[in-house]
Amino acid sequence: MLRHTRMRAAAWLAALVLLLPSASLAETVVTSFYPIYLFVLNLCDGLENVTVHNLAAPGTGCLHDYQLQTRDMKQLAQADVFLINGAGMESYLSGVADAFPALPVVDASLGIDLLPAEAEGIAVGEAEGLWNAHVWLDAANAEQMVRSLADGLVAALPSHGDTILQNRDAYLARLAALHEELTLGLAGLPRRDIITFHEAFPYFARAYGLNVAAVVNREPGDALSPARLAELVGVVKALGLPPLFVEPQYQDMAAQTLAAETGAAVYTLDPVVTGPETDIPLTYYEDVMRRNMAVLLEALGSGA
Ligand SMILES: [Zn+2]
Repeated sequence: MLRHTRMRAAAWLAALVLLLPSASLAETVVTSFYPIYLFVLNLCDGLENVTVHNLAAPGTGCLHDYQLQTRDMKQLAQADVFLINGAGMESYLSGVADAFPALPVVDASLGIDLLPAEAEGIAVGEAEGLWNAHVWLDAANAEQMVRSLADGLVAALPSHGDTILQNRDAYLARLAALHEELTLGLAGLPRRDIITFHEAFPYFARAYGLNVAAVVNREPGDALSPARLAELVGVVKALGLPPLFVEPQYQDMAAQTLAAETGAAVYTLDPVVTGPETDIPLTYYEDVMRRNMAVLLEALGSGA
């Protein structure tokens, strides 16, 4: 009888040892795309045995029309928590809920005052949702997103709660400084109209007092019809040749055509949807936002 009990205890112990590595040692945090990945890397900095995976490859850019790959489903199957942008960016979300009903999903856009997904003169596609999803390009929104992401991480990884909250507070202080810098830096611009090539900058414009006078392609890759091009040439001329802003992630054929037709200058604004894959500086979001500010000062300042 005693021997039987001992054997049972040994079997239990073996089962526990088998369970331990996945149950408590290694934890996996999965993010949906690059801006959320950057925020979560900051929040998880220094956490032991926590791996942060980003689903979409860094070259993906925005998730418009993105379909989950087999590789993504494998990573989600390992995940303890899934952190997303929300506001319609992850159009595949219902598929994730169906496949992994127990997986906690943290929506970073909660509590943010959303703008409608409508660009000048361009109809909103049914699949695209009601809201413009590019909320992270207002640094004050980024602060709100980091708060929500931190709350979700603490709930999913309670044993790391103290470190996550310390990381959150340090990051929030940096983001607040960035927001103030952008607000002050862009306050005195003599010109405010910009033309962009994908509907990524309405939140940025709202926060820092710019006016998105036209959006050439609401979503990257949309074909530009001759009629639309003629219309845009008219808009650019009527506005007195505001600068055109292309994005490093997308081809700027339409921009070059439009610039050639009107003489408007072309600059680059980076919506921070791509970046390095390894050795990512934790300040990458701030670095790119500061670079964008410098570009805007050059393009819209009195000397331009
Ligand atoms: Zn986008």
